[in-house]
Amino acid sequence: MSKNRSIPLPPYVETAIKQLESHGFQAWCVGGCVRDSLLGNTPHDWDIATSALPEETLASFPGQRLLQTGISHGTITLLPAEGTSLEITTFRTESGYSDNRHPDQVRFSTSLEEDLSRRDFTVNAMAYHPVHGIVDPFGGQRDLEQKTLRAVGDPCRRFAEDALRILRGLRFASQLCFTIESHTSSALVSARHLLQSLSPERVQGELTKLLCGPSVLPVLQRYASVLFSILPELAPMEGCTQETPYHCYDVWEHTLHAIDHAAPEPALRWALLLHDAGKPEAKIFSPEGRAHFYGHPAKSGNIARQVLARLRFPKKEQVWIGTLVDHHEAPLPMTEKQLKDFLGRYGAPFTFQLLALIEADMSAKAPGVFERRLPDIQLSRRRAETILARGDCLQVKDLAVHGDDLLQLGIPAGPSIGALLQFLLQAVQDGTTPNQKDALLQAALQWQKEQLP
Ligand code: ATP
Ligand code: MG
Repeated sequence: MSKNRSIPLPPYVETAIKQLESHGFQAWCVGGCVRDSLLGNTPHDWDIATSALPEETLASFPGQRLLQTGISHGTITLLPAEGTSLEITTFRTESGYSDNRHPDQVRFSTSLEEDLSRRDFTVNAMAYHPVHGIVDPFGGQRDLEQKTLRAVGDPCRRFAEDALRILRGLRFASQLCFTIESHTSSALVSARHLLQSLSPERVQGELTKLLCGPSVLPVLQRYASVLFSILPELAPMEGCTQETPYHCYDVWEHTLHAIDHAAPEPALRWALLLHDAGKPEAKIFSPEGRAHFYGHPAKSGNIARQVLARLRFPKKEQVWIGTLVDHHEAPLPMTEKQLKDFLGRYGAPFTFQLLALIEADMSAKAPGVFERRLPDIQLSRRRAETILARGDCLQVKDLAVHGDDLLQLGIPAGPSIGALLQFLLQAVQDGTTPNQKDALLQAALQWQKEQLP
């Protein structure tokens, strides 16, 4: 046991530990909060492991707000104050993992070390107590110093017990910039077929964290085969060479460098992962031996929608990411008309994220392409900012006339009103009609004469 490292605990965590101890139980901080504190990062949540049985934990906090949602697994959630929550879990051991995901049996234990031994990686299998210091039976501190991710115990067995650990391993390697120790690494790759048993939501969650980690590039370079076993649609990108003057990488390597360039925003990184997935099936050669990928954005968009739906992304995110993929080849610099169309149809956050995606895509092409195209991306950004600052008319609701005004002109209710509003929006955006009521009513009458019998 090492007593020399002191971790500052939030007061509500320290209070909860003291409270459990005053009722005669052991209580320790465990898992991610210990790991993150020792790395000098602020933990996003705190977990306590205790020798108290769930009902004893409940009895240790009389009059306090508690949630019993995880009680069958030994977890009680304490809500010490507004906006804080603390998971308190009884020491436990697990056995029999017939579905490669959940233990068949959970047994409560009185041993902290037994509890630590069921945890996935050595850096996640440490405990801390404000008086007793750190308990680290598997060398987690050494592995933290060496930036190594190592399974607790036999890695093959641990991944077969719970296949989620395979993805957790890649995600921690990406988030923490750690290398996966060689036995753990080869066990993880060999067990990749077990990933089929995971729920799509869990896969989605882990992959998003992996994609947004600072080491996503080396992790996906090394472990592409693991990703492809859950997203087989992406496998043809690896080795799909691009015989064009604009590219120096195959489609997969290009994709990884593009992800690496982008800000760690989930939708942006997912769109980059998927943006060229349709290239392999679109690839053709011209007679002089140059590759072309005509129509690949639409093919990639289809693959993206398929993958995102399978991983149960919320519908709104499926549409957002799919639409980013569809438009990733928009011509540069974007014209005012194109930008107004994007801003009006999808909004400013989408438009700027599309420009970020195009920038990341350019950054991962042949040397010199990025330098040549960056000014056009910056010009497009400035144009979009100017359009927004001017308060230009971008949507039907920004027009100086509304549906009621048109009904009063005698336009029949129904689809004609929508079509006319679209026409007026177009006219205002093209500059052929000012966004003023009289001028718009005039244009509406003209349209009525031409369009309606
Ligand atoms: P973060 O919260 O930053 O995602 P974490 O390590 O805290 O990382 P949690 O999912 O909150 O991850 O789990 C808390 C702890 O529970 C882990 O640190 C680990 O000790 C243990 N743990 C979680 N999931 C597993 C698992 N699938 N197999 C074994 N131990 C696990
Ligand atoms: Mg956690």
